[in-house]
Amino acid sequence: MREEPSIPDWELQENIREIRERVGAAAVKSGRAFEDISIMAVTKTVPVQRVNQVIQSGITLLGENRVQEYLEKYPLYEKKNCSVHFIGRLQTNKVRYIVDKIDMVESVDSIRLAQELEKRCAALEKTIGVLLEVNIGAEPTKSGILPEDLPELMKTVAILPHLRLSGLMAIPPAGGKEEENRYYFSKMYDLFLDIQAKNRDNSDVRFLSMGMSNDFETAIACGANIVRLGTILFGKRK
Ligand SMILES: *Cc1c(COP(=O)(O)O)cnc(C)c1O
Repeated sequence: MREEPSIPDWELQENIREIRERVGAAAVKSGRAFEDISIMAVTKTVPVQRVNQVIQSGITLLGENRVQEYLEKYPLYEKKNCSVHFIGRLQTNKVRYIVDKIDMVESVDSIRLAQELEKRCAALEKTIGVLLEVNIGAEPTKSGILPEDLPELMKTVAILPHLRLSGLMAIPPAGGKEEENRYYFSKMYDLFLDIQAKNRDNSDVRFLSMGMSNDFETAIACGANIVRLGTILFGKRK
């Protein structure tokens, strides 16, 4: 890991202050409160000391993309009461390395992955929350499952005793204009309401994770309650 000076604390404080203000305003506009939205700090490529700075500043949710990177940084995080969600592409052969170090997987997009998570969680006697990642723009190279395959994956997850179906996650096509983002986010919200209506015993469908630095206000307007922020919080990634 590269050693880099931390961002000046005032700058980070300022970023967080601005983010909270904008999240709060967007929440209120959509008839909710600031507290209804979780602000996730997305840590990929960000040095440990900066992550610890945002934890110090009251961020309570981290998003991890890469297994290897997380394994290196994890022992150095001053986690306190922070939760960690895995949000990246997760290979089944890596599940066992991280399953004891995360609170939720937001990027479940195959039956195989769900079954591997079940197996590893069962061994630890741990129940983990999962979000199903939807490839809402049906982009060929993107992870996530297609909306039409959602019911089958949902059925599988619902009967796995160590997985708690907790909602949906999506990354709409990159570079979209606001109107296009709104279209995809609204489609996600419809799917979210749909699976919420089909809630089962071991499900607790509450989270709709969508919106990143460029589009989080639109996402909140469309019903998101987890926004995943990297750039706007930590600055541009190298
Ligand atoms: C990198 C990343 C983000 C954050 O993106 P920014 O545009 O830097 O805010 C959010 N979600 C996922 C899945 C990511 O990989």
